[in-house]
Amino acid sequence: MGQGKKKKKEDLSSIHGEKCWPLVDKRSPCEEACPIHMDIPSYVMALAQGRIPEALDIVRRTNPFPSICGRVCHHPCEEACTRALIDRPVAIEWLKREIARYEQRNGGRPPRIKKRREEKVAVIGSGPAGLTAAYDLALKGYRVSVFEALPVAGGMMAAAIPDFNLPSSVVRFEVDYIRHLGVEIKTNTSLGRDFTLEDLQDQGYRAILLATGAWKSPDLPIPGTELRGFVQALPFLREVKLGEKRFLKGKTVIIGGGNVAVDAARTAVRLGAEKVILACLESRPEMPAFPWEIQKADDEGVTILPSLAPQKILPGKGGKVKGVVFARVAALTKDAEGRLSWKLAEGETTLEADWVIAAIGQIPDPPSIPGLAVTERGTVQTDPETLATPVSGIFAAGDAVRYPGTIVEAIAAGHRAAKSINHFLKGKPLVSKSEKKGREVFRLDEKTEIPAFLVRKERWDMPALSPKDAVRSFEETELGYTPWQAREEAKRCLNCRMCGQCIFDKGQLCFETSLRLL
Ligand SMILES: Cc1cc2nc3c(=O)[nH]c(=O)nc-3n(C[C@H](O)[C@H](O)[C@H](O)COP(=O)(O)OP(=O)(O)OC[C@H]3O[C@@H](n4cnc5c(N)ncnc54)[C@H](O)[C@@H]3O)c2cc1C
Ligand code: SF4
Ligand code: SF4
Repeated sequence: MGQGKKKKKEDLSSIHGEKCWPLVDKRSPCEEACPIHMDIPSYVMALAQGRIPEALDIVRRTNPFPSICGRVCHHPCEEACTRALIDRPVAIEWLKREIARYEQRNGGRPPRIKKRREEKVAVIGSGPAGLTAAYDLALKGYRVSVFEALPVAGGMMAAAIPDFNLPSSVVRFEVDYIRHLGVEIKTNTSLGRDFTLEDLQDQGYRAILLATGAWKSPDLPIPGTELRGFVQALPFLREVKLGEKRFLKGKTVIIGGGNVAVDAARTAVRLGAEKVILACLESRPEMPAFPWEIQKADDEGVTILPSLAPQKILPGKGGKVKGVVFARVAALTKDAEGRLSWKLAEGETTLEADWVIAAIGQIPDPPSIPGLAVTERGTVQTDPETLATPVSGIFAAGDAVRYPGTIVEAIAAGHRAAKSINHFLKGKPLVSKSEKKGREVFRLDEKTEIPAFLVRKERWDMPALSPKDAVRSFEETELGYTPWQAREEAKRCLNCRMCGQCIFDKGQLCFETSLRLL
């Protein structure tokens, strides 16, 4: 039996004395929905039983950013969680945060690398895609250097996502963990500005990963964007996150309906803006921002005005912004590529503004490399499976290839790229056949009869600052579970892939499972 399989069996055997798992061998719906297929039931079971170091080991097998994903992952796993048929999904995301807290308290202990290899790999960009690939390749013994244009490592996690959602100290801890594996991270070093591809080849790098993200702000195509007081959201958020901007006076209008717009609005509130209005093309249910983020913006006093299309920014005294004219959107459509088009209704609305912040998306701006193909949308063209570009030895991953993306999707891409680079350096075909095998997924539908013995157990909500206190500073708004709450929440998990068959097909519970669930 391979080491990985043996380890997995050990995790599960400690739950049920090995008697169930070999008979069932399914995949839980949450595991299937997680882009990196985390072994959720095993880490949640370990947490439920108070075996936190083991829970952490299980989490770290697939996720190099447990503390970050425990705070800001968009958690598609929870949408698929079977527990929702009984009451509400298990708080899979937040439980990871509690497990990661154990690691932070104990200083983290990166594993010892058993075998060192001579080959050098260069990673361009230190976001979740680049750092995940660096993490995987360092664990395999490669000599990995990460080159980062900004003064901090971590990509958008370190330089865009506001501290009230993701504190910089959390990002630093997880980036340092990767450094401690022996990964060299060179900040303030940009491909194209400070060095070239040839320099890397001359220095003996055998493979290169482009993980440069999507940092270019598209132009807002209306008159007035040259006025003082008009800014793009991404540079604005970066300046605030890096401590370069601390105040914002006056009325602020944010244009856009996505997560970046919501983050910019909540940031403006904290910087002291007098009134913050977020105006977007979409109707409220169509807004692309996560619903829980929209709710927080509402609670913190942001006024959301949906179905408005900006027409022009009005000039005031001294070349400064005075307001924005909007027309009402009568109908909005989205094409397969996500591009919006809209029809306007009659009439216009003017909003007064001292600041206008545009948050209408970000696009990639990959370095120009001979032979590299870039799509119409600005993304780097790769093989979708292997992430290899047409240039031998160059791979690309993350938002630079597919945007808009999320952190866990970038992590998934980083893993894929690392696998391909490892195969490339060993002279193997880039996709191995064994990767295509998958276990059957345990699934129930809404018509499934829920056994009467399954009691409802309320999901533990995340303790959080009140909105009134939250807006006073950039302190993290969510406070984390207490260890006891985390354990009780973990006990709500049905462990579907193993226990689901007994619970739902046979209508029975064994002693161990009833102790947990009832
Ligand atoms: C404001 C904001 C909030 C977000 N909130 C969430 C959230 O709550 N949850 C979530 O899952 N996702 C969120 N996202 C999306 C998420 O951050 C991205 O999808 C993810 O970071 C993409 O990872 P990446 O590694 O591809 O790129 P990035 O994180 O963008 O990292 C790319 C790195 O490459 C560097 N770089 C670029 N060009 C060069 C060059 N030529 N040389 C050297 N370095 C270079 C950049 O400086 C950057 O550090 C948010 C994004 C933003 C902007
Ligand atoms: S109940 Fe547990 S195993 Fe089942 S889908 Fe939810 S988290 Fe996953
Ligand atoms: S990384 Fe995200 S999707 Fe995966 S288990 Fe964690 S919260 Fe769910």
